[in-house]
Amino acid sequence: MKVSKFGGSSVATADQIKKVLNIVNSDNERRIVIVSAPGKRHDTDTKTTDLLIRLYEKVINQLDYTHKKEEILERFNDIIKGLNLKTNILEEIDRTLEQLIQELKNEPQRLLDALKSSGENFNAQIIAAYNTEQGVPTEYLSPKDAGIIVTDEPGNAQILEESYEKIHELNQRKHKIIIPGFFGYSKKGNIVTFPRGGSDITGAIIARGIKATLYENFTDVSGIYRANPNVIHQPEIISEITYREMRELSYAGFGVFHDEALQPLYRYRIPVVIKNTNRPEDPGTYIVHDREFNRKKVVSGISCDKGFTSINIKKYLMNRQVGFTVKILNILANNHISFDHMPSGIDNISIIMRTTQIRGKEQKILEAIRRECDIDELNIEQDLAILMVVGEGMSATVGTANKITTALSDANINLKMINQGSSEISMMFGISNQDAELAVKACYEKCYS
Ligand code: ASP
Repeated sequence: MKVSKFGGSSVATADQIKKVLNIVNSDNERRIVIVSAPGKRHDTDTKTTDLLIRLYEKVINQLDYTHKKEEILERFNDIIKGLNLKTNILEEIDRTLEQLIQELKNEPQRLLDALKSSGENFNAQIIAAYNTEQGVPTEYLSPKDAGIIVTDEPGNAQILEESYEKIHELNQRKHKIIIPGFFGYSKKGNIVTFPRGGSDITGAIIARGIKATLYENFTDVSGIYRANPNVIHQPEIISEITYREMRELSYAGFGVFHDEALQPLYRYRIPVVIKNTNRPEDPGTYIVHDREFNRKKVVSGISCDKGFTSINIKKYLMNRQVGFTVKILNILANNHISFDHMPSGIDNISIIMRTTQIRGKEQKILEAIRRECDIDELNIEQDLAILMVVGEGMSATVGTANKITTALSDANINLKMINQGSSEISMMFGISNQDAELAVKACYEKCYS
């Protein structure tokens, strides 16, 4: 059996929902469907989840929230009307929103999660009701009844291992099921959401639970591009990529598939395919455990993410000092800062983190390092971008680093640091934020034209 997940833009309007159900009903193996909340209908539109967050803000600040609630009801009403749905779900939506607000208005975190989750929850009910009216018996199943039991941390749910046994029972269901994505229930009975974009995570959990043959993730693009399509005009689509490559690319900005969604799939090697709801005949991109690599296309993808900070430390004879790095890392840990890369030489070390991690704490950290670590030189560099060149085949091929550094030097881009992990699946280059787009263009051209 397959698990099929449809993202926000695939379920944003009645017409899109009809396309989704055509896809679902055309294949008997597509029996378990996960849906997002209605997403953007056009570039300047607002996602329902964001409308729900705005409603929450009004409630919590004790402001008149009627208008915000109306906006949400209107979004759903458009869909209900467009589908010509006979069941009166709109009143039920209004009643549920009011009930959540009244019950949880003194528990802000709980209210936020409950409201956020209702975008997918209502949408799943509408879609199931419509498909049933069309003559295909389809059941709405709440994440609680599906068995999705999660930790109790609002906005950051983690699946509990024990959930999988109950989820496995979904295999016995005979007809189609629609499950809302993005949230589960804690043991205390609270609604808890996954991080934003988390419907992908629900799909992955269900796919692992039922040991699906394939997890189909439908979105509005025909797969994963080799580079950002806002930077490269019509980049190639990757036909197959490994979980590890995907993780590296999504780390540096590839947002098509949530990186936390890979975790449940990895152990059972459940393949994922990223497909386009608007062009379901396109083959899409497969994310798999192992693949044969193409010698002509050793680099699978190139991504570049801005907004990093580097702390650079020099200490003569650093390599002979026991525990030097530990002291620095302790300072970061005590200030709740996680770091991403740590390239080093015999007498120097750089610690690179997302700027959001250290913002506002810079002086405190530098002073602590000066005080506790007996260093020779210390500086902090802001506005760094991280360029990631990713490909499983790089470890068995000579010359990729040379290709990339040549491309960057030809484009006159100053390389501030280079790091290659022992897995040789990716190469990381630290460059200036302002060079980010140019670097992607230069590398793309070198690798694929
Ligand atoms: N609706 C949620 C969000 O916008 C989750 C999702 O669509 O995956 O983040």
